[in-house]
Amino acid sequence: MSRAGAAGGAAARQAVEPPSPGTATASGAAAFRESAAARRIGTCRALEPGPMLICIGSLHGNEPAGTLALERVIASLQSPGASRRALFRGDVVALRGNIRALARDVRFMDEDMNRVWGRARVAKLLATIRETEKRRQAGSPPLPPDLGPTAEALEQLSLLTEVRAEVRRARGPVCVLDLHTTSSESVPFSTLTDTLQNRKLAVMLGLPAVLGIEEALRGLMPHYFDRLGWPSLGVEGGRHRAAGSVPALERVTWATMAALNMVPAGEVAKATAPFPEGCDRLPRFMEVRYRHSIKPSDEFKMEPGYDNFTPVKRGQPIAGDRNGVVRAPMSGRLLMPLYQRLGEDGFFVVRPVKPIWLTFSRILRNAGAHRLATWLPGVRRHPDRTDAALLAPVARTRPIMGALHLLGYHARLDGDQAIAIRREGLVPDPRLNPLN
Ligand SMILES: [Zn+2]
Repeated sequence: MSRAGAAGGAAARQAVEPPSPGTATASGAAAFRESAAARRIGTCRALEPGPMLICIGSLHGNEPAGTLALERVIASLQSPGASRRALFRGDVVALRGNIRALARDVRFMDEDMNRVWGRARVAKLLATIRETEKRRQAGSPPLPPDLGPTAEALEQLSLLTEVRAEVRRARGPVCVLDLHTTSSESVPFSTLTDTLQNRKLAVMLGLPAVLGIEEALRGLMPHYFDRLGWPSLGVEGGRHRAAGSVPALERVTWATMAALNMVPAGEVAKATAPFPEGCDRLPRFMEVRYRHSIKPSDEFKMEPGYDNFTPVKRGQPIAGDRNGVVRAPMSGRLLMPLYQRLGEDGFFVVRPVKPIWLTFSRILRNAGAHRLATWLPGVRRHPDRTDAALLAPVARTRPIMGALHLLGYHARLDGDQAIAIRREGLVPDPRLNPLN
């Protein structure tokens, strides 16, 4: 662990309130109020209306770098003098993601807070928040939240409450930045749902970008915000405690503000150090082609020495588990090889996406070519949803999935049925919108 990393971790722990009990008990309402006070890193509002950038750090509690980077950005924006004037348009809101886990320096308490943003759960949480507000307005005592027995349910409720309060004050489009670090060595990179607006933002950050993570993992927080039509990027700043991770995430935040025309472009270089070397040697866009999912009983262990984006050949031994050697299932580059105890993903394999395909898919999507999806073999109209199509097993081949990706769809299981959902032009569900 680097000195900077060690000092950073201590600062993050000082910055949060004493941890509340780890489960939702009768004291849930009190714990919820406490955590709401610790949630907020800071807010800056320019005189001129503009976009609202919501930045969330430490959604995983063993990743203090995101919180530390946001503390620095807010301090810099609020400092007297020139940098105070740097934010000339819009609002910046910085929040801590998982306060209980951050205080204990663990990835999560009961469940991974970046896997819990599915429709049903978010709809239930927002219904609880609306009911709580109604009772408060009516002068009735608050109900203890009915959320199930996890610490993360309380964290999520508190985080959503803050997001709801903020977006109702927004004076322009909302954009979300979710700041993380990885257990392996890494250059900074972004992960995004492949929408045209997310791609545009990712390019402006100047980092390698990984598409298709939302197809491999369910319940990701940025994907929830995508479904509301808000551009949202996940960013990995480097290894958890590496000295460069905090400055990298700080730069990402400034670069996003500049991309949204909230600060002058020159402020990025003035406020932060350049990204580490190596970012520019990687393909600009890559896509997830394989996820190695694991359970604790697998006793999965990566071989040492694999960093993010290390090239691997098909059949190369890269890890071990209780059944023996784990080999790379295809050639490509490794993504997020797991070098920590908690986690459900052993590693991913990504491959570059050629710029010509990105251009082609942009033209197709802008031309409304998503309507052609049901011409593909095994793809049928969805009986109830205008934003989705049903997939027969014959459609789940690489060429047809590739064609669906080009047209702007991603695939997932809905119960037993595989469906393709449009990423562009989503139909927002009013129950999922914190503005309602
Ligand atoms: Zn993380």
